[in-house]
Amino acid sequence: MNFQSIMGPPKLELSVVIPCFNESGNLLELHRRLTDVCAAVTQDYEILLVNDGSHDETWDVISRLHKIDPHVVAVNLSRNYGHQIALSAGLSHCCGDRVLIIDADLQDPPELLSQMMKIMSAGADVVYGVRTERLGESWFKRLTASLFYRLLAKVVDVQIPVDTGDFRLISRRALDVLLSMPEHNRFIRGMVSWIGFRQVPIAYQRQPRFAGETKYPLSRMLRFAADAITGFSTLPLRTATYFGFVSGFFAFASLIYTIGSWLMGNAITGWTSLMSVVLLLGAAQLLVIGIVGEYLGRLYMEAKRRPLYVVQDLLGHETNGSFSHF
Ligand code: UDP
Ligand code: MG
Repeated sequence: MNFQSIMGPPKLELSVVIPCFNESGNLLELHRRLTDVCAAVTQDYEILLVNDGSHDETWDVISRLHKIDPHVVAVNLSRNYGHQIALSAGLSHCCGDRVLIIDADLQDPPELLSQMMKIMSAGADVVYGVRTERLGESWFKRLTASLFYRLLAKVVDVQIPVDTGDFRLISRRALDVLLSMPEHNRFIRGMVSWIGFRQVPIAYQRQPRFAGETKYPLSRMLRFAADAITGFSTLPLRTATYFGFVSGFFAFASLIYTIGSWLMGNAITGWTSLMSVVLLLGAAQLLVIGIVGEYLGRLYMEAKRRPLYVVQDLLGHETNGSFSHF
């Protein structure tokens, strides 16, 4: 059960949910631009800013924004939980009929909102942004991101659109399904694809960050990719079986060769080939155990059934301090 269903939803037309980790330099500009675009669509909106255990003044800025603007709801998590969990915390606290997910760094233009709202009014449940270009990001980030989305599309069982981040508008019924999904390893764009309904792309150019640095260094990107793949596919596990079949075939062929050599009386050659086979098989076994371990580790974390996150402060909704009941 999620937090929202306990509170009972005070309905608004629109919520904007933003996970923030060390984003103090972006928040005033983000608030200004979001206020403009939201007010052009409706007066009945909230801007929900989630502080994900930042080390800078992010929480001070968010709570000040809450004081001067009643549309701002401020959620302070008890520590850094990571982008996808911070986003989940925001989603389970928002009460809009439609929810816009956007990053704090203004890489995704809030000005697309009115167009997204129109597409949703025409019958879509999800309107997701597709990045036609990524400006101001390193060639390494662009290359790895592009490879990641294409590999993911090949490997996973649901169709997850390529070059798509979390920037999207979601209807309440799609959000309710999303909030009913209890997993801890959350790859939200994949989970939204899994839901189905009518999902419509909208193309845009990804801008450079307004301020600050990316919060996804290589190690976090790799972890994110592993979460995405293990969350949506068991193909890596099945590759162990394929490995087994292929090496079984070669083992059988070399067995025949070995017995043949013995019968012909020239059995003591081939130290090099023996070593290569032993080393290669050892490496393949370790790799496969590693893959099994990735799944097992995740299963272990899920089995604990800990709350997804802990809320330390909540400004703008009545209840203060809570944790998720996923
Ligand atoms: N973020 C977060 N917690 C984290 C890392 C990132 O809430 O541990 C937020 C961050 O503040 C931003 C969004 O997630 O609003 C996306 O992060 P970032 O812009 O660094 O990712 P990139 O666009 O470089 O892939
Ligand atoms: Mg960014």
